[in-house]
Amino acid sequence: MSRQSSISVAVRVRPFSTIESANLLASSDGQSLASSLSFKNPGVCRGIRRVVKVLDDRVLVFDPPDDASSMHAGGRRMSAPQRNISRLSGRKGNFTGFGRDLRYAFDRVFDETASQQAVYEQTARPLLDNILDGFNSTVFAYGATGCGKTHTITGTKEDPGIVYLTLKELFERMDDLRDEKIFSIYVSYLEIYNETIRDLLTEQPFAQSKPLTLREDADRRITVPGLTSLSPTSLEELMEIVARGNGNRTMSPTAANVASSRSHAVLQVSLVQKPRTAGINEDHALATLSVIDLAGSERANATKNRGGRLLEGANINKSLLALGNCINALCDPHRRAHIPYRDSKLTRLLKFSLGGNCKTVMIVCISPSSFHYEETHNTLKYANRAKNI
Ligand code: ADP
Ligand code: MG
Repeated sequence: MSRQSSISVAVRVRPFSTIESANLLASSDGQSLASSLSFKNPGVCRGIRRVVKVLDDRVLVFDPPDDASSMHAGGRRMSAPQRNISRLSGRKGNFTGFGRDLRYAFDRVFDETASQQAVYEQTARPLLDNILDGFNSTVFAYGATGCGKTHTITGTKEDPGIVYLTLKELFERMDDLRDEKIFSIYVSYLEIYNETIRDLLTEQPFAQSKPLTLREDADRRITVPGLTSLSPTSLEELMEIVARGNGNRTMSPTAANVASSRSHAVLQVSLVQKPRTAGINEDHALATLSVIDLAGSERANATKNRGGRLLEGANINKSLLALGNCINALCDPHRRAHIPYRDSKLTRLLKFSLGGNCKTVMIVCISPSSFHYEETHNTLKYANRAKNI
């Protein structure tokens, strides 16, 4: 990524889902447009329109104005009264007529055609150098539920995401350096749910596992006493461990939706390395890669932004809120701000994985559709704060 700062922000727009596509307002087809809108009964207005337009690999427009897909009915422009009706009838900005036309620039913008490999190469891959140099690195997926966080981080077996692609290359790089260095890898995987930490790699039934606490030790390391730490020797073994942790996140299908939309899944892979020529007492370099599938950001919507700081609203996820405030403080070019790590479990855990020599990539996942209008707007505002101006 181009910017020198230690925090970079990429936005990924996911494709329309099948349901969204089926309800998409078609500009060339007046019939389908007319039938998908009910001016008499706004409640059943099903029209979905595109509210995100990617201009290039750094810029997107939210709610583009006067787009053909939203303004033309039967090939003709709507009259002003018609437009006013549709402004009133839209659910959360469906068919609002006049776009807000908000432009946002990020370090990288990926449109819906971007492959997992492309997203990986331009977000997480540059962190590998940092890790191999002995510095902590962190990847977040941020966004509302249903907008592509888990797809980006985990993906599927056929089309794996950041975790697999990053770890695969990490193993390849370690292999290339085998003659010079001795490596070992430790992995832990935990979940933060309602400010409670649980071990996703526990041997006990997950539901019965005990909440864990955080501790900062004398050499400024954050530890979680009792957390399972495994030492896989191959990529396959590591991926099996990750899959087991993912299994604990999704115990029952219905619980999983609620839990995974409210919980943060934190995978930490620590790399210990030492030159083969090093003496017994020489320090080992230790660096941790944290990959985090964050809780759904729709909960951040209830927040108020006062004096540059997000304040707690009703039912807000404390860790998500604190993360926003820490990143914002870290992005202050004058570094005047106090970094409020202590405000949540997530930010305490990541105290030495954000800022300083650490590199952080935030992958912001959004939907292109008006169905997620408010969420997307809020997500872009949150992401926009995580930048140096
Ligand atoms: P989240 O974790 O943010 O709640 P998901 O990753 O589960 O969202 O994505 C919601 C749905 O959209 C899933 O069915 C997922 O497979 C699909 N999806 C998300 N992003 C993409 C993408 N870039 N390409 C194809 N399908 C995607
Ligand atoms: Mg998810």
